[in-house]
Amino acid sequence: MTANLLDFDLEGLAAFCEQLGEKRFRATQLFRWIHQRGASDFSGMSDLAKSLRDKLPDVAHIAAPAVLSRQNAADGTIKWLFDVGNGDAVEAVFIPESDRGTLCVSSQAGCAVGCRFCSTGHQGFSRNLSTAEIVAQLWFVEHTLKRELQTTERMVTNVVMMGMGEPLQNYHALVPALKVMLNDHGYGLSRRRVTVSTSGVVPMMDKLSKDCPVALAVSLHAPIDSLRDDLVPLNKKYPLQELLEACARYLPAAPRDFLTFEYCMLAGINDQPEHARALIQLVRQFDGGRGLSCKFNLIPFNPFPDSGLTCSDKATVQTFAATLSAAGLVTTVRKTRGDDIDAACGQLAGEVLDRTNAVSRMAKRRVGTEHVVSMHARLP
Ligand code: SF4
Repeated sequence: MTANLLDFDLEGLAAFCEQLGEKRFRATQLFRWIHQRGASDFSGMSDLAKSLRDKLPDVAHIAAPAVLSRQNAADGTIKWLFDVGNGDAVEAVFIPESDRGTLCVSSQAGCAVGCRFCSTGHQGFSRNLSTAEIVAQLWFVEHTLKRELQTTERMVTNVVMMGMGEPLQNYHALVPALKVMLNDHGYGLSRRRVTVSTSGVVPMMDKLSKDCPVALAVSLHAPIDSLRDDLVPLNKKYPLQELLEACARYLPAAPRDFLTFEYCMLAGINDQPEHARALIQLVRQFDGGRGLSCKFNLIPFNPFPDSGLTCSDKATVQTFAATLSAAGLVTTVRKTRGDDIDAACGQLAGEVLDRTNAVSRMAKRRVGTEHVVSMHARLP
């Protein structure tokens, strides 16, 4: 098996080139061909020495996982389902807006955190994606769309690590992938335009602030530990106070002067006035009472079978948002995108299966795993 060059950040690629007896600058050339031009065929890399072009096919390849399906929504949202082998599949979702193109990227097949409101969490965990499998989602979508639209303009301007999986539980594959996204010889995305969303893996938040401080979004979903223990089981390990303190520590390294808190609105569970008041108290305790610099993003819940949960009604969401706003907290309500292709937040595993047949097709090839595809609950 040869090395997939999507697995390397520029440093890694330089080390790989050195192993081949090549100068480090060859890695930069190669990196540009791969990420800026979307090349996968070494023979066309005209500024590489012919000897290297001849050598590479024996030791390396450049490939994304096979696409099982693609769905285009009426609002322009596009969802791809990638086959990552052994019966597992992951999704990437492109969300075009007038001033940006956001790609929602998966980091794991399934997820071990098991949030109650998330269909991915209900499927359990299969495995971590490799760096190549994470980067491939961006590489494939960026260059596929460019080719289709016959443009040299950048298609993906923002990346959110909010697809399947808890990115900070796949830290060692995540960080090189982020570095590829940020590198000027790669995609050149600014740190403000790359967001890692976490359910609160505290030690890894601290580590990320040092290794690769991109924008951070924290899935909060509850203002008190007893409720958050139930909704986001990771809270039992890293309870709210610890999580909020980690957020405060992250802020000085953050590319923006605030963090985002995501809050899935669940009818009768976490959407009452006392929950809003508790949230305000929770964030106000920092910075000598001035509060943690943050923004709240309220997410209407997308119900799925057996969750036992329903979405808060519009009036409740608006009242909740107004309470936070009145306390000086910047609050937005996330609009749903791509609902006609199940690309909105926390879409059903079952619906994906029904509409793409991907999982049933995969099931025929399944080797002892039970995972089906779903979306992370935090798609913007
Ligand atoms: S919300 Fe995120 S962390 Fe929680 S189960 Fe879903 S994918 Fe995992």
